[in-house]
Amino acid sequence: VRADLVLVNARLVTCDPRAGDGPLGVLDRGALASDAGRIVWVGPERDLGSAVEADSGARELDAGRRAVLPGLVDCHTHLVFAGDRTHEFAARLRGEPYSAGGVMATVAATRAAPPEELERLALARLDRFLAHGVTTVEAKSGYGLTPEHERRLLEVAARLEHPVDVVRTFMGAHVVPAEYADDPDAYVDVVCIGMIPSLGLLAEFCDVWCDRGAFTPAQAHRVLRAARQEGLGLKVHAEQLDHSGGALLAAEHAAVSADHLEQATPDDAAALARSRSIGVLLPGASMMTGTPFAPARMLIGHGVRVALSTDFNPGTSPSENLQLAVALGCAQLRLTPEEAILAVTRHAAAALAREGRIGSLSPGAVCDLLILESGNEIDLAYHYGVNLTRTVVKNGTVVL
Ligand SMILES: [Zn+2]
Repeated sequence: VRADLVLVNARLVTCDPRAGDGPLGVLDRGALASDAGRIVWVGPERDLGSAVEADSGARELDAGRRAVLPGLVDCHTHLVFAGDRTHEFAARLRGEPYSAGGVMATVAATRAAPPEELERLALARLDRFLAHGVTTVEAKSGYGLTPEHERRLLEVAARLEHPVDVVRTFMGAHVVPAEYADDPDAYVDVVCIGMIPSLGLLAEFCDVWCDRGAFTPAQAHRVLRAARQEGLGLKVHAEQLDHSGGALLAAEHAAVSADHLEQATPDDAAALARSRSIGVLLPGASMMTGTPFAPARMLIGHGVRVALSTDFNPGTSPSENLQLAVALGCAQLRLTPEEAILAVTRHAAAALAREGRIGSLSPGAVCDLLILESGNEIDLAYHYGVNLTRTVVKNGTVVL
């Protein structure tokens, strides 16, 4: 095959078990070739010369025996918002509990912000995601909560010009806005009739928060049904504050993911395993709110494939460091390092309906990759709290 980029001298962590050793498919002396932004060949370095014909101007990257992973995928973020909730964080540390109502503070600041400011803030956040080796980020709306403001947030996300790809999710059903506090069902009508049918290509997924202080299972069911009719993929914020029925609802609607799951039960896990929904776990939010961590081992024991995400958002987890989510996944959720690495690569891609396209180093996948400042991928979990990114390649081009 022909190639315009060749990577050599790598400990290649393909995240494709067919391609190498162990659950991460590791090739200890691996090489990779890419052409026009797509991976065209992966294998032992000794086979590179016979398999790949590099173009005369091809770029050669020498990983220096370091670990090379797929570009990381953050499959659950609330990227676009304005405002500051440091005071709420400090109040929590003085003993006030976290509640869904804090979202309205961000809604007020976001509605008041001009689009240029929302764009500037989101681009700075994408810079920080990229600095941590993330090449794809999911971004939810949900801080507008009117047809105009929700649409505006998705339009801002669609306009972002940045090496990091942004996958857009409509989350008009984030919380019930203050204006509808006395009639939440009327707001659900606005979401189902006034927002979802006019989204067009602005969103690929629809998410809803089913919980105490947010939406009931019956209301969330209406939102998911309306979204499915428009051809949107489905996601549910489920079982975070209370056991509310969100996980079973996600399974019933064959949602691509059920996210949070701190209060999930074995019955929930069995249902999510049957529906092949990815369990997206968010240990940063548990850590920062001092609330229970998700029962990851129980979920995995029932056959749920789990992903990890930052849950980047202003209320509970304002961090773009997905590597830290790997460390927390191991230290707090008791994932093995291999499970935690799959959770920010292949399984995170599956949570965005992109398994095989991103999140693994396999022929046919987009050439997004991360060269670590380490010869061992387990350092992502072990050498915690620091940024181990050395080089980032996006679509076959070195971007960092
Ligand atoms: Zn969230």
